[in-house]
Amino acid sequence: MTRFLDVPATSRLVASVGVPRFIDELVSTLRADFLRWAEFDKSPRVACHSRDGVIELMPVADAKLFAFKYVNGHPVNAQRGIHTVMAFGALADVDTGYPLLLAELTLTTALRTAATSVLAAKVLARPDSKTMALIGNGAQSEFQAIAFHTQLGIDEIRVFDVDSHATDKLVRNLSAWPALRVVRATSTAEAVRGADIVTTVTADKAYATILMPDMIEPGMHLNAVGGDCPGKTELHADVLRMGRVVVEYEPQTRIEGDIQQMPADFPVVELWRVLKGEAAGRESASQVTIFDSVGFALEDYSALRYLYALAMQYAAGTEISLIPPATDPKNLFALIGTQSAPAPQQPEIELVH
Ligand code: NAD
Repeated sequence: MTRFLDVPATSRLVASVGVPRFIDELVSTLRADFLRWAEFDKSPRVACHSRDGVIELMPVADAKLFAFKYVNGHPVNAQRGIHTVMAFGALADVDTGYPLLLAELTLTTALRTAATSVLAAKVLARPDSKTMALIGNGAQSEFQAIAFHTQLGIDEIRVFDVDSHATDKLVRNLSAWPALRVVRATSTAEAVRGADIVTTVTADKAYATILMPDMIEPGMHLNAVGGDCPGKTELHADVLRMGRVVVEYEPQTRIEGDIQQMPADFPVVELWRVLKGEAAGRESASQVTIFDSVGFALEDYSALRYLYALAMQYAAGTEISLIPPATDPKNLFALIGTQSAPAPQQPEIELVH
């Protein structure tokens, strides 16, 4: 049987564990997997682009487990009243190909994206960072705010969105976190001024320039999450030239990240190298650091592996018969058997009048 976690089951599971602990354990799982970078069979995701969005498949495997995620990105969906980003995925046993887990990954993607942002910020942001600007206050934003608050000690978030209703919702949801001060800004420039960390998590299928060079101050860490698709960026090209750029998986980020605007030899460092101590993270207090995040399959592998362990521990979700029982593997036909045989034809009788 395959374990199945739908949205209600995953929501209950995250609530039972608690969001801070879930993020904390997911950050540890991500770190452990990024440190095993060489063990993974990796490839850039396969993307089907359309006028309004993209649908992608993200596979990755090590010697034991295979994972894939289906995910879309349709900024226009906000006007249709449906989600911009939706996902589901599976975890399978490499030895047998047997699917162990089929899970919703919309909620989980928001958690894993925030956890990955934190993982990068821990080696890139100034350790004394206290304030974060959060530009784009949609579905991902609370997760980013809570992850940076609980994991990095950010105690003030300055929020801005072109849609004031999105900011109303974010402010309302963050009111449950009394130690986190939330300040509403009237523009991106106002939100960013004096911030230690700037998170951009906007959605617009365009070469957007949410951050301009004159907004960037020495020592800032930029966590650029929303530019994750060809033709969809958030940073002005000169902002990228101002700092040290760290990416998840270079072959994919060259196509999808903000660095798609830059020449092929523009210098970047992969996050796993920094985590392993093979490359420097932040080199000085005044350096600008940039995490050009697009979301890589390994992060979903980590999230699925963590979800699966939790589901077994908490007996969460249900068991589904996704694969036929192995009672008689060569007799697959027995599953339909005689039930689907056509009813015997009555011989046609020639009526003689
Ligand atoms: P969403 O549609 O719920 O929210 C996006 C918000 O951005 C909206 O409220 C919109 O009004 C706001 N916005 C658009 N243009 C803006 C601008 N110029 N200034 C300020 N705000 C602006 O989308 P979401 O689910 O929160 O996703 C946000 C982005 O993050 C998307 O682009 C998505 O593709 C990306 N994403 C990246 C990763 C990753 O791993 N890097 C993972 C998940 C989502």
